Amino acid sequence: MAVKVVKFGGTSMADAGAINQVADIVKSDPERRYVVVSAPGKRFSGDTKVTDLLYACYHDLEINGECSATFAKIRERFEGIVKDLGLDLDMKPILDEVEKKMVINYSVDYCASRGEYLSAIVLAKKLGFEFVDAEKIMIFDVNGNFMSEQTNELVAKTLKDIKCAVIPGFYGADGTGSIHTFSRGGSDITGAVVARAADAVIYENWTDVDGFMSADPRIVENPTIIKKLSYKELRELAYMGANVLHPEAVFPVKASGIPINIRNTFNPQAPGTLIVAEVEEDEFAKRQITGVAGKKGYSIIFIEKELMNSELGFGRRVLSVLEYYNILFEHMPSGIGTLSIVVSDSELAGKEDVVLERIRNIVKPDNIEIKSGISLISTVGHGMSFRPGTAAKLCEALAKANINIRMIDQGSSELNIIVAVATQDYEKAVNAIYHAFA
Ligand code: ADP
Ligand code: ASP
Ligand code: MG
Repeated sequence: MAVKVVKFGGTSMADAGAINQVADIVKSDPERRYVVVSAPGKRFSGDTKVTDLLYACYHDLEINGECSATFAKIRERFEGIVKDLGLDLDMKPILDEVEKKMVINYSVDYCASRGEYLSAIVLAKKLGFEFVDAEKIMIFDVNGNFMSEQTNELVAKTLKDIKCAVIPGFYGADGTGSIHTFSRGGSDITGAVVARAADAVIYENWTDVDGFMSADPRIVENPTIIKKLSYKELRELAYMGANVLHPEAVFPVKASGIPINIRNTFNPQAPGTLIVAEVEEDEFAKRQITGVAGKKGYSIIFIEKELMNSELGFGRRVLSVLEYYNILFEHMPSGIGTLSIVVSDSELAGKEDVVLERIRNIVKPDNIEIKSGISLISTVGHGMSFRPGTAAKLCEALAKANINIRMIDQGSSELNIIVAVATQDYEKAVNAIYHAFA
């Protein structure tokens, strides 16, 4: 029988009503055999995700050596869910054990992972599926690096003998038994890893919107749903902030060409978005851009020096300074006498002065400064290579909205155009670009 791997996000697991929807979706198709879940998310705006409560527990442990007041909120959530679902499952001993181990293990990843662990136990009971703990099948090394190939073999071997299972997302363990998590939103990666190992015909990622939208619905009103996009377009958009899917979730499924289908738990009739290796040419020829996404929190290291273009090794020497201080950079457009390096504020934090000083010493620029308060916006789509004038249209839209472009960068793949704008212009800029192409 074909296998479909389905992942349900935080909102889909937030309360008993949502979990009943999840159960209906899984049960309506016998091919939906392996289910990956997130921890319960927000039930209403202003609510706190269980994962955030767990990070708060760790914080309490650091300060007080115990976390029972914060953990009580987690107890309440899970006990409430189990009661409302009418399950014959005694959560008390399970929760007691988790709280006890949180104190003993005293690790931030262990604490953070417990939301998914508990969520999967509850859903397994509801569905009558086997609970397969991610710590038994998702392998990390002791430094917290995910071991994709060993995991793929182990997950494939384990699931071969299990017809239906619920697996917690977000975490795994190293050879010593210590728990490690992916970065936030990482249950999407677990789902993709299981889909690859189970040789699934599709990886369904169930969330709380009708699909991948051509812009962030929290910034642009009613953006269109993208019916189909390529892994590459998805990677660009997800990396640049379209956090409906974790940017690293694409790698495991891409290797074997498994399509990802983004679906809405609260509107299961909607077909959602399909993410595939190749979008047919006529499909993307119809649209000039596929989507726009962006992120705040960047700075530009701006370097000026006359005739830098004829100075052999200039760029390499500048980058050697970033390498020395372990700083990753995002973009590096240059002119004949200028070089702009875009870095995220979190990479640069606390190192600004030493970086400037060292670059000054090494390449003797005429001027060097850090311009902070920058946001990046990526406009993405294979359709760009079909049509001249995409960059012109984008620049015109920003000019009309009275927004100054601080930097622009287009790769020769013609898959995206990145612009940097002042962060106070960010929302206005995303809207201007979206509406220019809508
Ligand atoms: P889950 O808990 O199901 O993993 P997430 O909160 O991680 O869900 O992702 C879904 C959210 O992503 C949506 O509710 C939406 O607010 C946000 N989002 C940001 N950009 C986009 C986009 N381009 N398309 C759809 N949703 C987006
Ligand atoms: N619960 C984790 C988070 O909030 C992982 C996930 O939901 O994918 O980031
Ligand atoms: Mg998510």
